[in-house]
This record gives sequence, structure tokens and C-alpha cells, in this order.
Amino acid sequence: MGCSSKPEALVKQAIRAGLSDGWGGSMMGTEFSDVLFGTPKPVETEANLGVMVEENVNIVVHGHDPSLSEMICEVADSPEMVAYAKEMGAKGITISGVCCTSNEVAMRRGIPMAGNFLQQENVVLTGACEAIVVDVQCIFPALGPLSKCFHTKFITTSPIAQMPDSEFIRFDAHSALEKATQIVKTAIENFKNRKPELVYIPQMKQKATVGYSTEAIVKALDGVANTQVDELGTTKPLLQCITSGVLRGAVAMVGCNNPKVRPDLAHIELMKKMLANDIIVIASGCSAQAAAKAGLMDKAAKDICGDGLKRVCELADIPPVLHMGSCVDISRMLVLAATLAKDAGLHISQLPVVGCAPEWMSEKAVSIGNYVIGSGIDTFLGVDPYASGSSEMVEILTNGTREWCEAAFTVEKDIEKLGDAMMARIEEKRAALGI
Ligand code: SF4
Repeated sequence: MGCSSKPEALVKQAIRAGLSDGWGGSMMGTEFSDVLFGTPKPVETEANLGVMVEENVNIVVHGHDPSLSEMICEVADSPEMVAYAKEMGAKGITISGVCCTSNEVAMRRGIPMAGNFLQQENVVLTGACEAIVVDVQCIFPALGPLSKCFHTKFITTSPIAQMPDSEFIRFDAHSALEKATQIVKTAIENFKNRKPELVYIPQMKQKATVGYSTEAIVKALDGVANTQVDELGTTKPLLQCITSGVLRGAVAMVGCNNPKVRPDLAHIELMKKMLANDIIVIASGCSAQAAAKAGLMDKAAKDICGDGLKRVCELADIPPVLHMGSCVDISRMLVLAATLAKDAGLHISQLPVVGCAPEWMSEKAVSIGNYVIGSGIDTFLGVDPYASGSSEMVEILTNGTREWCEAAFTVEKDIEKLGDAMMARIEEKRAALGI
């Protein structure tokens, strides 16, 4: 209160704060998670509510902290816990995920994704969820009262995200195994309380290949390399595809669901449009889960791509939408963009690459948008960023920031027009490079 109020100063400050998140906080989060739990590699999984298994104890992990979800997966996999679940009348234990913690365990373990942000209540509504275990961020307070309508245990674990009508089991690094065991046992013992008449798991699920860390993408690119010319283990084969026009460019699709947009629609329609026009898509957060549910992370989705992208998918054996992880993992996208720029001898802002958050919702997405434009990548939003009351602010955000960081925001609620604007920007960048 009572500091900057000049629009230009506020935006500069916001971009600086964003940059420290993207290239600092988030990047450290990603690096430490990779050190602790492994750098993701391509792995097969499935997505949507149909991944829950009626005969099994279903534990849904939700939130953002991979240390909780990793420990729960580890414990639930143990022969003792599986035997305990059988003793309690179930056939086994199924772990599935919601939101970004789901992306984390999907990328590293192939744990199926039950859904994204606006689907979190639906996992409880199946009547087959023994426990929904949450840590921080993107958790509806309504999960508490909703769980009371079923047998589901709503388990909160973080002292900074406590919620009414929940069972609080404090999780920390020192007692991780003990607490994860307590949580898994609580879920198993709750299986007998299911009300069979309330159980309904919609049989909807899609195959997906996930786990495309920057390292995994570089490895996959060796498949499209011309071994006479291209150096293996670099992004040069991708640059070659872009320079020759086989691919027109790349889009990073990120961010949330927003109740102002029909869930997933903007993500999916935009991705399909990009794929049809030979623009490869990398995705993270709830956008990635939208893609997985729509089958766009299935390698068979190459058939809806333009000829160039289809060929690249076949040679590299990849799906046309690459799952790069959680929202925190957008730092992986920064590393990829920086590597591409370095390998091409260009600035990041010159690459025919744009970012898009068509259904953004959370404050974290604001920070992400700021660090993406701060890094020189134009960012396209499908929901108004609550700044349109000030014409001065609108001018700075949609144009003025170009002077400082060679990128700006575009806001367009019409999905078709938003997609056209993204493609036009990619073509402008190509033209500027003479390709
Ligand atoms: S994409 Fe948005 S809604 Fe989804 S987990 Fe990340 S911040 Fe939450």
C-alpha cells in the first residue's frame, strides 16, 4: 500500500517479480524435483475420470507438491499396503491425480490423470474416491462439504492450506514415510464405507504419452536428425524443421481452466488449429491435462496434423502435443526456448514461438505471463486480465512492454481469432528472419 502507482512502474515491477519466479523460484523447484525424484522421460499413461477403478481403493492426489504425491505412490505400491487393501475387500489400490501434482507423478511414474482444475469435484462425485489428498494451491474449499455427501475423506496436509470439513494430517519431509503410510491406510480403511448405490465412474479415458522434459525432447529430436549435417543431442534438428518450413513454429499452451470458458474448449480447439497448421505444441498444467483427455497426447493424434508435423511425429515417435509437466515446469519451457535460441544464434524473442493461456485463472498464471513476456515471448490470453479499465495500462501491456522485453500480451476472447493472431505472430517472426 502506498508505493508505486504509476502504470509503467507497476508493470515493470510485475515483470521483474515474474522473472525472478520463472528463472529463479520455479526453476529451482523443477531442478530440485528432478534431483530428488528423477528427470522425466516419456512414459505411457491415461487421462480422464475412467482411470479410477471401481474394485480398487481410489486415492486421488491433488495440489502441487511432488514430495507428498511421490511418497503416497511409493507407499501405495508396497506389497504390505496392497495386501491390506485386499484384506479390506478391495482388489488393489489406484492412485490418480488432479491438477499439477498429477502432472508431476504422471511425468515420472505414469500415474494416470483423473482430471484438471474444473474436474476436481467430479472425482468425489464418482462415489468411488476413498480419499482426496491435497497439499497447496488450486484446491476448491467446496471439496470439504462435497466429501461429506459421500464417504470420501478430504485430507489436507499443509499448514498453509487448511480447509473446513477436512481431516488434517500434517506432511513434512522428516516424517514423510510415516505420514504417507497414515494417509494410505486411512483411505484403505475407508473402502468399506462406500455406498454402492452412489458409485458411478464414467468410462471415459484416453491414452497419452507424457514426460517430455527438455532432455527427453532433445533425445527424441535425434530421430529427425539428418546425421550427415545435424549434431545429435541438440535442438538443431527442430531448428532445421522450422527453418525449412516443415514446421511453422511452436506454441507453449499453458494454464488453468476458468469457469468463464467452457472447460478445456479453448485449450483443445486452439491446439487442434495449431496442429493442423504444422505448429508443434508443448503443454503444461491443466492445459496439458485437457490435451491428454482429448487424445492429443496419443501418438495417433499425428493423423489430425498437417503433413509436416505428422512426418516429424512419425520420425521422432512423439505425439504432436508434448507434455512438459506442471505449471512450475514452465521453467522447462524457458530452458527449451533458451537452448533453441542459443543453438540458432538468435535472441529468444526472434524465435517463431508464442505462449498461450486461453483459460488462465490463478494468480500464479499472472506471474507466469509476466515472465514469459519478460523473456521475450509474446503471450496470448483468452480471459481479460482485469486491466481493461485503464487505457494506459492496456497500451503498456499489449504494446509498450515491447520496448523493454521485445514481447507483449494479446487478449482475445474469441478462440478462432485468438488462434489466428497466434499464427499471424509466428508468421511475422518467420518473415523477420527471412524463412
Ligand atoms: S494450470 Fe492453473 S488451475 Fe491448473 S494446477 Fe496450474 S495454476 Fe492450478
